[in-house]
Amino acid sequence: MRVFLDLDGVLCDFVGGALLAHGVPWHFIPAPGQWDLASQLGLTPNQFWDPLQGFDFWANLAPTDDCAGILTAVESRFGTDPVYLLTSPAHSSGCYAGKFAWVKRHLPAYLSRLLLVPAVSKPVLAGPGSLLIDDSDANVAAFRQAGGWGILLPRSWNARHAEFGRSLPCLIEDMAQIDRLTSYHNT
Ligand SMILES: [Mg+2]
Repeated sequence: MRVFLDLDGVLCDFVGGALLAHGVPWHFIPAPGQWDLASQLGLTPNQFWDPLQGFDFWANLAPTDDCAGILTAVESRFGTDPVYLLTSPAHSSGCYAGKFAWVKRHLPAYLSRLLLVPAVSKPVLAGPGSLLIDDSDANVAAFRQAGGWGILLPRSWNARHAEFGRSLPCLIEDMAQIDRLTSYHNT
């Protein structure tokens, strides 16, 4: 199994960084299951994205609270060799460079397995031996549609928001189930 791990909202805290960049109080909680942060903040898409285009924003995002736990769980299940970071940069050179810097700083072992791919192109990596772990309902659905396996990591902003408090146990259970299904299929 080749495993593709998303960065934003999975391993790095894009939402927290975006709220901070807009000076939003720490106690603001996005509406459950709602992706559109801009409208929740009363901003146009341009107003929302303008402060998020530069190198510094992307390079300085904090790891998510469960970043280390997610990596440990994935590597324990599948090993390290087949695991890639698959992340969709915003359309700015600062974002591309910032993501490289973030991985170099926090996950240097993954620098040679860092795939910067626009979201619409993620499904080209789908197939019966490919698993995408992502926080985006749309990305996971498209990957499954293209013939791959997908795990939607529970986050407050996606369809699994009710399970957000147990994201890591859900991931571990889902990976075990997929591992069982594919092992059965291959024997
Ligand atoms: Mg994401």
